[in-house]
Amino acid sequence: MKFVVAMMKHETNSFSPLPTPLSSFGRTGGHDGPLYGSHVAEVYEGTNNPIAAYFDLAREEGAEVVTPVAGEAWPGGPVSDDAHETFVQAICDAVTQGCDALLLDLHGAMVTESFDDGEGELLKRIRAVAPDLPIAVALDFHTNMSAATVENATVITGYRTYPHIDMHETGLRAGRTLLRALKGEIMPVIQWGSLPLLTHMLCQTPSRQPMKDVMDMAIAAEAQGRVLNASVFGGFPLADHPHVGVSAVVVGNGEGGPANDLKEALLELAWDRRADFVYALEPMEVSIARAKSLDDGPIVLVEHGDNCGAGGNQDVMAAIEEIMRQGLTDVAVSPVWDPAAVAQMIDAGKGNEITLDIGGKTDMPAINLKGQPLTLSGHVQEITDGRFAVTGPMMTGMQINLGRTAVLDCGGVEIMVSEERMEPFDLGVFRHAGIEPTERKYLVVKSRQHFRAAFEPIAKHIVEVAGPGVCSSDYDLFPFEKLRRPIYPLDPDAAR
Ligand SMILES: [Zn+2]
Repeated sequence: MKFVVAMMKHETNSFSPLPTPLSSFGRTGGHDGPLYGSHVAEVYEGTNNPIAAYFDLAREEGAEVVTPVAGEAWPGGPVSDDAHETFVQAICDAVTQGCDALLLDLHGAMVTESFDDGEGELLKRIRAVAPDLPIAVALDFHTNMSAATVENATVITGYRTYPHIDMHETGLRAGRTLLRALKGEIMPVIQWGSLPLLTHMLCQTPSRQPMKDVMDMAIAAEAQGRVLNASVFGGFPLADHPHVGVSAVVVGNGEGGPANDLKEALLELAWDRRADFVYALEPMEVSIARAKSLDDGPIVLVEHGDNCGAGGNQDVMAAIEEIMRQGLTDVAVSPVWDPAAVAQMIDAGKGNEITLDIGGKTDMPAINLKGQPLTLSGHVQEITDGRFAVTGPMMTGMQINLGRTAVLDCGGVEIMVSEERMEPFDLGVFRHAGIEPTERKYLVVKSRQHFRAAFEPIAKHIVEVAGPGVCSSDYDLFPFEKLRRPIYPLDPDAAR
C-alpha cells in the first residue's frame, strides 16, 4: 500500500494585523517555510503530533509513505493565497500520482485571503482529482467545522484536550479507522452539526466544565465501540466567517443510528450549557492587585489578551507595565516579540546597561488599538540562540526556535525578548535562558490555556490577567461582520 501523508496547519485570527506568508510555515524552525519530501519525517517522526501517528501506522502496515508537504505557522492574520495554493498543489500532485489513502494533519481554523475555509477548499480540490480516495483528517480542538470539510473526508477526529496533549492519539484514532475501512471491515459515515455558539476560549477546555461532560460523553461512546470516532470541537471564536462555532463530529459504521443520536446528544448538552461558556472579565488592575496579595509562588500571571497561540502580536506591553507600576518583584516574563529590541540588546552586550523601547511595535487597527512600546532600563542578563527541545507533554520532542533571544533584568523584573513568536507551553522557554521558573515568585506568560501543559504542575496560583490585544475575551471589541446570526452570546436569544 501507498499512503500520502501531509500537514497544513494555521489558526487564523481575522483581527490580527500580522500577515501569514508561506515563509511563516516553519513554526519550530523560524521563517523558512514548510518542509517537503523526506525532511517531513526527519522533523516530525516520533513527536506528539498526528502526522507522527500516521508514520507509525504506515510502518505497522508496511506501507510506502509519500510526504509532499508539512507546515504549521503560529496563529496570526489570514494566510496568503500563495501559501495556501502551495499546500493544495503539493498535496493534489502527490495524490494524482496514485495512492491508497491520504492521511492529513490539519488545523481546521484556517482562513486565507480568498477563502473563509482553507481546509474545506483543500479537501474540495483533492476530491476533484480523487473522487473515491479514502481520506483521514485529524483536526485541532479549535476547528470551525464546515460542510466542505465533512463532505470531502472519510474519517475525522479532533483533539480532545486543551492544552493539546493528545495530538499523536488523535492521529492514531483517525488513521486506525481509515485502515479498517481500507480493509473492508467497516463503512465510515460522518454525522455532524455545528452550534451558533461563540464560546470564550478560557471556558472551553474539556478538562473542566462546562465542556468536560460533553467531551466525556464523546470519549465514552468511542471507547465502548458504540461509534467509530466521536469528537467535539470548541471552535475558534476570533474569526469572522459563517463556520465559527462549537461542533460535534461522529463517525459511525454505516448510515444513521447511534452516530446520529450521539451527535444530537453532544450538541444538545453543549447548547444547554451555553451560558457557562461565557467568561466573566475582570479588569487587569484588579487581577494584578490580587496576585500581589498572594504569598507563595510560583504565581503564574496569564496574560491572555495577547497570546500568539490565538493570533496575538505577543508585543502588547500594557499588562507588564501595570505589573511594574504595582511594584511586583521577583517576576520573569515569557518572550515579548520584538526583533529590533533583541538586536539592540545584543549590540549592548551581555552584562551591560541599556535603556530601550520594548514591544508595542505593531498597531491593531481591527480593534482600534495602537502599539505602545514600554521604555525600560536594565542590564542585559542573558543572550541565547532561542533553541530548545520540548520536554513537557505538549508537542513533546519538537525543537523550538525563538530566534535570537535576550533577557533584560530591570531590577526585580526579568523580561525575555525574542525574534520569533511562541506561546510559552514548555518550561524550556525560561530554562534555556538560565531562568529557573520554579524559583521565581511570579511568571508572566502570554498564553491562555497551553501554558497549563507545563506550568500548572509547578504553579501555586494561577491568575488570569485580561490585558489588551487581538485575542481579548471582550467580544464587544471585535467588528464581527460575517458570523452567522443570531449567534450566542452576541445575540442572547439565539436558538439552535
Ligand atoms: Zn487549538
